[in-house]
Amino acid sequence: MARVYNFSAGPSTLPVKVLEEAAADMLDYKGSGQSVMEMSHRSKWFDDIIKEAEALMRELYNVPDNYKVLFLQGGASAQFSAIPLNFMNGTGKADYIITGQWAKKAYQEAQKYGDVVAAASSADKTFTYIPKTKPSDFREDVDYVYICYNNTIYGTVYKEVPDVGNRTLIADVSSCALSEPLDISKFGVVYFGAQKNVAPAGLVVAIIREDLLGNARDITPVMMNYKVQADADSLYNTPPCWTIYICKLVLEWIKNDIGGLDKMKERNEAKAKILYDYLDSSKMFRGTVVPEDRSLMNVPFVIGDDELEKKFIKEATEAGFVNLKGHRTVGGMRASIYNAMPVEGVEKLVEFMKAFEEANA
Ligand SMILES: *Cc1c(COP(=O)(O)O)cnc(C)c1O
Repeated sequence: MARVYNFSAGPSTLPVKVLEEAAADMLDYKGSGQSVMEMSHRSKWFDDIIKEAEALMRELYNVPDNYKVLFLQGGASAQFSAIPLNFMNGTGKADYIITGQWAKKAYQEAQKYGDVVAAASSADKTFTYIPKTKPSDFREDVDYVYICYNNTIYGTVYKEVPDVGNRTLIADVSSCALSEPLDISKFGVVYFGAQKNVAPAGLVVAIIREDLLGNARDITPVMMNYKVQADADSLYNTPPCWTIYICKLVLEWIKNDIGGLDKMKERNEAKAKILYDYLDSSKMFRGTVVPEDRSLMNVPFVIGDDELEKKFIKEATEAGFVNLKGHRTVGGMRASIYNAMPVEGVEKLVEFMKAFEEANA
């Protein structure tokens, strides 16, 4: 059976090399006589896996020594609650920037726990841009400022880390994790659900500056207490062993096959350019995001004709370009072109779009 080009926003395509490696290890992981799915999370084999995954994460992201790297569960969505519970612990105030549905969900959840304000929003133009902010846009005494770095549904991304003065910045980088270098030292917390760019579903990685730990509210569920997780080296309870193992293989692929995050970024820029250049020249398709804020990972586009869009999605699917339907709240199309999407996948998609445009002009 041939593999399709899978443009799913998540769970999403993984590097073929990683899948092959996992398949080869499936019945007998390195002479253990077991699959990683079957082994104890306290075994030497798994201990090596999680330690290596952490070391690679630190190396690739250049994580400063005073940050913890945690492997957690509950999806990015569980962090929407864990973040206020752990970090809204001084004045009980936090400012959120609303750049789409994921930021909004985090904002709504945080409102249960304190004085939470939307300091900026791009809702006025259906989240097609990143609002410009300056430090004075945020309240002086907030415990943190929260952003969603890459907006999976709307296809926008921060091109640089916003200046929040000396406030603590917390970012959801779920859909752009490890797609380019990121200066972790500018953040108090960076976290990501792994199923977009890093691994199968079931894993969240949180990178947290150590001085922020240890002040969780008393009511914080123990599983959501980052200090408890940090003190237990992410092994407070049974972690998602298999997903952490695949994460390790993906990190090895980024390091050894791609050559690190600078190279990953170059590759992602080249890939996205192929699609955006075509969208800018097409008379049928157009991108929905202002050019300066376009994501390298999620590319929404429209025709502006429901019937023609349906026809496009159907024919694309038949031709092996799958999961191109836009998010249910936005409509149109969206191509998620994460790290693991090969350049040929985007080239062939553009060829297909050109042929569709000619045939339906
Ligand atoms: C997918 C996504 C989420 C939600 O992730 P879950 O793991 O399903 O909770 C949150 N934030 C962003 C930016 C996402 O892309």
